[in-house]
Amino acid sequence: MGVLKNYINGSWVESREKETINVVNPANQEVLAKVPFGTKTANDAVAAVVAASGALKEWRNIPVMKRVQPLFKLKYLLEDNIDEIARLITLECGKNFAESKGEIQRSIENVETACATPTLMQSEFSENVATGIDEFMIRQPVGVCVGISPFNFPGMIPFWFLPYAIACGNSFIVKPSEKVPLTMMKVFELIDQLDLPKGLINLVHGGKESVDALLDHRDVKAISFVGSTPIAKYIYQRGAANGKRVQAQGGAKNPVIVMPDADIEMTAKIIADSVYGCAGQRCLAASNIITVGDKNGVIKDALVEAAKNKTTGFGLDEGIEMGPVITPGSKSRIENIIGEGIAEGANLLLDGRNASISGYETGNFIKPTILENVALNGEVVKTEIFGPVMSLLPMDSIDQAIDFVNGNSFGNMACLFTSSGLNARTFRNRANAGNIGINIGVAAPMAQFPFSGWNDSFFGDLHGQGKHAIEFFTQTKVVIERWPKEWSRKF
Ligand code: NAD
Repeated sequence: MGVLKNYINGSWVESREKETINVVNPANQEVLAKVPFGTKTANDAVAAVVAASGALKEWRNIPVMKRVQPLFKLKYLLEDNIDEIARLITLECGKNFAESKGEIQRSIENVETACATPTLMQSEFSENVATGIDEFMIRQPVGVCVGISPFNFPGMIPFWFLPYAIACGNSFIVKPSEKVPLTMMKVFELIDQLDLPKGLINLVHGGKESVDALLDHRDVKAISFVGSTPIAKYIYQRGAANGKRVQAQGGAKNPVIVMPDADIEMTAKIIADSVYGCAGQRCLAASNIITVGDKNGVIKDALVEAAKNKTTGFGLDEGIEMGPVITPGSKSRIENIIGEGIAEGANLLLDGRNASISGYETGNFIKPTILENVALNGEVVKTEIFGPVMSLLPMDSIDQAIDFVNGNSFGNMACLFTSSGLNARTFRNRANAGNIGINIGVAAPMAQFPFSGWNDSFFGDLHGQGKHAIEFFTQTKVVIERWPKEWSRKF
């Protein structure tokens, strides 16, 4: 089996690294490919920076209307190849085929939004700030930009950044997760068809070594990271210490409040989709479900009912709602956290541990799990589980529920289900999270809005997507001009 190549300076090139790790189908442990992984990937990263630097001089001066033209072509290429890309996502990442297609749809929407860069990048002009003096601000590219992504959305996350970066006149380097590099390999086959200047968009594999080389390289000016909180914090600190602008999105632990006035059956279905979609491996997956005033267990029963029949299996098989988690290590970590919850006094309403799927006995499957009587300060409630596990937390009032939401160290998403406008307004105003859902289970911002995490879910100032991305990928220059009569000739 060949080792995956890097895409540097417009060509597919072998890595200088001889060590590799396996890319594995999490449903059956089949080895799909080998990816470079080791210290010499740092040299690959440096080669990518050199190529990206070389492309800048020409690209930054190409008119922005011309710079977006390849994005129109990319949109159609992604649409034409959506099934094949989605198949690869399911193979290496585990989510079902419909989820994988939905992911690429989000990538396409980011490409479409970035096509508006000629307008989004426009700037400000004030005539006569003082007599005969005009002042204006222009936006210029920042230089070589880097996107480092996690395993759970291999097709979408690079697109929160890449299309905006190049439309703004920058060059870009993608460092995908070593667990799921095949999706970007396919995307780069499409990028190769765009006739871009050599080195404008590059792909380098690897893990910590390639990331560190990018964080430390003098010519890298901006880093966009998405992954777990400890690594996000590390990237932010090291990148900022090296004088780069950094946006680093981290992990999450998302609370959802259900008021007794919500449409219970519909709410339960939506929440089950949020908790168990992508096998819980979403930074916007609901996890702690706060049931307010549910004395008779109506909400609880509806949630168990909605969860228990989710079909689990290989994501390319017909009718599968939930795939495996990413590695055997993840599976045992999640099962251990469930075990800790039980040791802390929780009981299981649904136990998805030790799942065995016929024909996929070696897969990393966990079936839908629901815990109740969880310790409010315990591991299950505080830790990002990143698996198909729901905890039920009964509370008495919306104020108590919002106070609990605001005690969360993360702040990626918080949702409320209600039929009361007053409850909704109170929650929207007080909840400490960057993405708020009202009667929505996965409050994922569309491409024209920033993907807005707070607290330990985000380090930086400007987020990915939309206008925030345009600001992140440009630096402002303010020009103040005077043309005295006596210095200028008038015809
Ligand atoms: P991860 O932090 O392990 O890896 C992310 C990236 O960082 C990968 O490309 C990896 O190669 C690199 N990396 C790993 N260790 C590193 C190190 N020590 N030094 C430098 N680079 C390193 O994350 P993951 O397990 O791939 O993804 C899951 C996490 O991502 C979850 O915590 C999830 O919540 C989070 N996530 C967040 C968002 C968001 O928008 N906030 C979106 C998706 C995923």
